[in-house]
Amino acid sequence: MANYYNDNPNLQFYLDHPLMKRIVELKERNFADKDTYDYAPVDYEDAMENYRRVLDITGDITANIIEPNSESVDLEGPHLENGRMIYASKTVENLDACTKGGLWGVSMPRRYGGLNLPITVFSMLSEMVASADAGFQNIWSLQSCIDTLYEFGNEEQRMKYIPRVCAGETMSMDLTEPDAGSDLQSVMLKATYSEKDGCYLLNGVKRFITNGDSDIHLVLARSEEGTKDGRGLSMFIYDKRQGGVNVRHIEHKLGIHGSPTCELTYKNAKAELCGETRLGLIKYVMALMNSARLGIAAQSVGLGQEAYNEALKYANERQQFHKKIIEFPAVYDMLSRMKAKIDAGRSLLYQTARYVDIYKCLEDIQRERPLTPEERAECKKYSRLADAFTPLAKGMNSEYANQNAYDAISIHGGSGFIMEYKCQRGLRGLETFAEHGAHPRGTLRAEHQLRQGRQQPGGSGLLGPPSLRHDWRHHDVAAHPR
Ligand SMILES: Cc1cc2nc3c(=O)[nH]c(=O)nc-3n(C[C@H](O)[C@H](O)[C@H](O)COP(=O)(O)OP(=O)(O)OC[C@H]3O[C@@H](n4cnc5c(N)ncnc54)[C@H](O)[C@@H]3O)c2cc1C
Repeated sequence: MANYYNDNPNLQFYLDHPLMKRIVELKERNFADKDTYDYAPVDYEDAMENYRRVLDITGDITANIIEPNSESVDLEGPHLENGRMIYASKTVENLDACTKGGLWGVSMPRRYGGLNLPITVFSMLSEMVASADAGFQNIWSLQSCIDTLYEFGNEEQRMKYIPRVCAGETMSMDLTEPDAGSDLQSVMLKATYSEKDGCYLLNGVKRFITNGDSDIHLVLARSEEGTKDGRGLSMFIYDKRQGGVNVRHIEHKLGIHGSPTCELTYKNAKAELCGETRLGLIKYVMALMNSARLGIAAQSVGLGQEAYNEALKYANERQQFHKKIIEFPAVYDMLSRMKAKIDAGRSLLYQTARYVDIYKCLEDIQRERPLTPEERAECKKYSRLADAFTPLAKGMNSEYANQNAYDAISIHGGSGFIMEYKCQRGLRGLETFAEHGAHPRGTLRAEHQLRQGRQQPGGSGLLGPPSLRHDWRHHDVAAHPR
């Protein structure tokens, strides 16, 4: 039976990296959980075996449920009913399979119901889910918003929300507004403290929110009356059970139709402050977006791999001039380049994930006890490496994924332009990169700007008619030499 993990020796290779020993040591705190949870690992080998088991389950679900459902999800998409977003029927089946497989809140500590997985392993799961269906990966991987709530929320909020995410409730990050896209400092959604209700009330509009009708939202809102910049913004937790937020519209998009992109109206929606006021954008959203960047890098590797798999399969099947087309040097060369890009990109992705794991684990330990001088130095070293590598991993991989999707279409000749072949879905799936920049090239530019303290480019271009951005549509794909 197909399995996206067992069938991919590369993932197994990256899991066995020597730095994993240090990551497991930090993540498992000398295997302290073994006395409380019978499923907690007792040593390094046991922890690695646990990771392999989760990867194996995910490999099975992705290959045998999510991937086979992906075409139907793409065709059906979500729809709107009385202010609520309804998923495509096969998306519900995917969500169910992930719940049964225990694939929610996987990075969270066991005391909240999580699996305590390192980010490196979470990124591997993300890569596989994206390979199977990039749209569904958007919904599933938003569970990583819980990392931000864990990091900045108080213990009461952790106890309230994390177990729900571990049980399968979904999340979203509500940042963008009609007049605040790249420029999040302009966010206007208003948060007013109500003495009567003993909480904040949110009023305003958010747009382009992936999985916007989720159960638990992290919301960027203006809490400081009279302010106009980022220093007046705070982060809030909105719980759908409280009511007050409706979906006004679901965007009609170029691709990843299974992933609902919603416009939301907030009318006196009750919300809790997460962390401190005024730090919403400058601290918490920055952390949220760093984790999203790594998620996009993983998604890109998954999409790039799938494009390669489809192209390789087709090149081995299709015959012209009485030969398989893979035997033509031009085709073989294109496939080799695709493979090289996946290998380079995957290596960068998991190296980055390991850096993030080490410094995040040390930061978490620091919440329990002061770090030793050696640990402090280690934390600083890996935090700096993660800062430098994260935008590179995202920028390079999204660029490579785009190139691979394009080349996969090229290798399919005229068939690449026909909807019944899967490779077109890969190219449309790249729309996901719009979330942090309309085009992978824009993404690289944006990352460069971000690193210089500036802003990032837009994604609106990928909504509406798919006419202008993708000039590949006007190419003669069958004759494309590359
Ligand atoms: C499918 C999809 C899913 C999304 N999911 C989410 C989500 O879950 N949550 C969320 O909050 N948001 C989400 N977004 C919104 C996304 O984050 C924004 O599209 C993005 O931040 C850019 O904003 P904008 O589209 O308003 O573009 P704009 O900011 O209007 O940009 C338009 C153009 O101007 C350029 N530009 C803007 N500023 C600069 C600058 N300083 N220097 C150079 N060029 C600049 C951009 O490069 C771009 O080409 C999603 C968007 C899409 C399309």
